[in-house]
Amino acid sequence: MNIILLGPPGAGKGTQAQFLVEERGMVQLSTGDMLREAKSSGTEMGKKVAEVMDRGELVTDEIVIGLIREKLETTDAPGYIFDGFPRTLKQADALGDLLDEMGRKLDAVIELRVDDEALVGRIVNRAEQARAAGQPVRADDNEESLRTRLAAYYKMTSPLVGYYYAKGMYDRVEGMREMDEVRAQIAEKLDL
Ligand code: AMP
Repeated sequence: MNIILLGPPGAGKGTQAQFLVEERGMVQLSTGDMLREAKSSGTEMGKKVAEVMDRGELVTDEIVIGLIREKLETTDAPGYIFDGFPRTLKQADALGDLLDEMGRKLDAVIELRVDDEALVGRIVNRAEQARAAGQPVRADDNEESLRTRLAAYYKMTSPLVGYYYAKGMYDRVEGMREMDEVRAQIAEKLDL
């Protein structure tokens, strides 16, 4: 089974993807994680994307499509969870083509529906918790970058709702509930 988790920053995509990894042995493909890795290991590409990411803007389609292609070509998995990808219509088309090439298909696109005001609180919380635990705080977990990330979501990514709805693949869950309730809602959608 291959699925996309859709939702603005702080919606809980990463958390829910992790549950699916533990429960179903699926593999999480997070372009945000891949880009952060490139950034911290200081590769040419990492240097190129660092500022864009810190501001909360989207990196180019070419870069993220390239990252996903490489992962898909080198990882074998019973199923993939796309987390934070696709974020534009061009990426969505590219993902469709890549999966076709591999003889795989997309099974579900699940949007985590959240309330924007609460997102700001969640992100600030994530930064505070990281700080308290002595862990690095994401450079884009501040209010200004978060606003840019939310704007990018609504402008560039939310059209994917219509795109997948038209393909009969779109579903949504209530992302503001407790973590375990969201987890149960997703399980219910996937096990239909
Ligand atoms: P995330 O961890 O998914 O919130 O991603 C962190 C940042 O990485 C985003 O704000 C973008 O700058 C960049 N990024 C991650 N995934 C994508 C994508 N699919 N397309 C463009 N930029 C991305």
